[in-house]
Amino acid sequence: MKWRSRRQSDNVEDLRGTGGRGLKIGGGIGGLGIVIAILYMLLGGNPGDVTQSLQVDQPYAAGPSEPLSAKDQEMGQFVSAVLASIEDVWRERFRAAGEAYVEPKLVLFSGQVDSACGYAGASSGPFYCPGDSKVYIDLSFFEDMQRQLGAPGDFALAYVIAHEVGHHVQNLLGINDQVMSQRGRLSERDFNQLMVRMELQADFLAGVWAHYANMEKDFLESGDIEEGMNAASAVGDDRIMKRTQGYVVPDAFTHGTSEQRVRWFKKGLDTGDINKGDTFGAAVL
Ligand SMILES: [Zn+2]
Repeated sequence: MKWRSRRQSDNVEDLRGTGGRGLKIGGGIGGLGIVIAILYMLLGGNPGDVTQSLQVDQPYAAGPSEPLSAKDQEMGQFVSAVLASIEDVWRERFRAAGEAYVEPKLVLFSGQVDSACGYAGASSGPFYCPGDSKVYIDLSFFEDMQRQLGAPGDFALAYVIAHEVGHHVQNLLGINDQVMSQRGRLSERDFNQLMVRMELQADFLAGVWAHYANMEKDFLESGDIEEGMNAASAVGDDRIMKRTQGYVVPDAFTHGTSEQRVRWFKKGLDTGDINKGDTFGAAVL
């Protein structure tokens, strides 16, 4: 991707090197948090109460406490440029539909982070939290994608960012709420199927972004789209299950197979038409 001369987004919150918001107090690693929690417990309270209130009051550090390496800084700039492109595409798509696009924040963290969806570590992978409308990415996941999942290339990371912003688009459109309202009403198996449809739609929406990015001059390079398809395939449930546990349990799928993920990403890429992305109504995924 030729990203260096492109606009950078203002919506990246870089917490790398800071340990993440509230971690020093609430995460149990900082001495003060533990001492206060233990004192509180001795007094008969719920330690969750005190860490909770401290996290809310404690502002996170404005800048990294440890300087980032040149490579880390460059990665941050790359993420900002990709996010800016995704913002441009969705702002225009929403405008064309007579709606206003509300931009999500993107939090870069290392190690652990506190979100409105709870604490997350790098092992949880990139995620979108509807509660605070933020995408969370630990870039070590990107290294895992390259080394362990066999999905190299800068566009592989761009696909992941676009997929997570796809969840934000679903949140703005009320799709996330509709799906989540079924939790507990459906069997686990049926709810998982609904999750698969939501995830495949996020892949489709990533493809819609790629469609418009691909139309721009001097942005994507040959091989980029293939990197994205390869990444979509690499994060299929069947592929990941086989790799981590050696066998596949289709009922436990929550993201879709490699083939399905590639198909929906490609559908978005080929059409660029948000109306073609009804994974919930599709008879065949
Ligand atoms: Zn997802």
